[in-house]
Amino acid sequence: MQIESWLGALAQPDHSAIDGDLESLADRDYPFLSDSSVNNQIERLSGHLGSRHSNVRRLVIAYSLYIRQVDVILQSGPRAFCGAGCPTPPAGCCNHEHYVIMNITDLMSSQNSPAALHMAHMIGLLQKDESAHHRKGRTMRPGYCRLLAEDGCTLRLFKSPRCVHYMCEKLQRDMINQSNGAAQPLLSAMKHVESTTISSPADFLNNNVIHEGARLYADRLEPKAQNRKNARPHAGPGQGGNHQVGEVSNE
Ligand code: SF4
Ligand code: SF4
Repeated sequence: MQIESWLGALAQPDHSAIDGDLESLADRDYPFLSDSSVNNQIERLSGHLGSRHSNVRRLVIAYSLYIRQVDVILQSGPRAFCGAGCPTPPAGCCNHEHYVIMNITDLMSSQNSPAALHMAHMIGLLQKDESAHHRKGRTMRPGYCRLLAEDGCTLRLFKSPRCVHYMCEKLQRDMINQSNGAAQPLLSAMKHVESTTISSPADFLNNNVIHEGARLYADRLEPKAQNRKNARPHAGPGQGGNHQVGEVSNE
């Protein structure tokens, strides 16, 4: 219930954008999330960010819904590999401030769109609030990323694209071996976005991650998505640090 706990604690200064944000975002496909989770997440973030620029606010809320689904995918397999065989315990790849949305390379890009810069700023503010909420009662692990607690990351919905998509070579090898190659499309989709220099809002995420995650972990889909999948047996491809050792579970 960590995610709901933070959403429930968020200040709600402006409800004026909630109806429009629900109309814009709630009907999209979120195969790993229940309708109630989607609606609550949109409502709480909209109430918190209501006075902000509407386009960027919706991009940021959509990003959080994407990250929550990637979190389910990671929890469905990759994190168990990290916990069992990380080559660099105890902090794994959480050895630096990877939560920063735009690093120096990203900022040096002359292609940065104003919307991407605005998104990075808004997510950075939300990261501060989310991490402060989740670190209560936990012991932080000094010497690594400053958002790392002893039992895992203090971010859930607003991890950076770099954090949430990174998979070291050993993790990739283990997943490919264990799945007889079936994990390769998911790993390729993760790698694509993890290695992309962010210059526009589209660079923050990759919906192929969700599609390939849904193929690999079909048992983790929400029932409505499982029903859709069963009704379309020949569905095509378009239809369809993060791994901190010992990280806490999704909900
Ligand atoms: S991805 Fe990170 S936490 Fe997972 S095994 Fe590799 S270094 Fe360790
Ligand atoms: S996953 Fe969390 S703890 Fe690890 S580097 Fe990213 S922000 Fe830091």
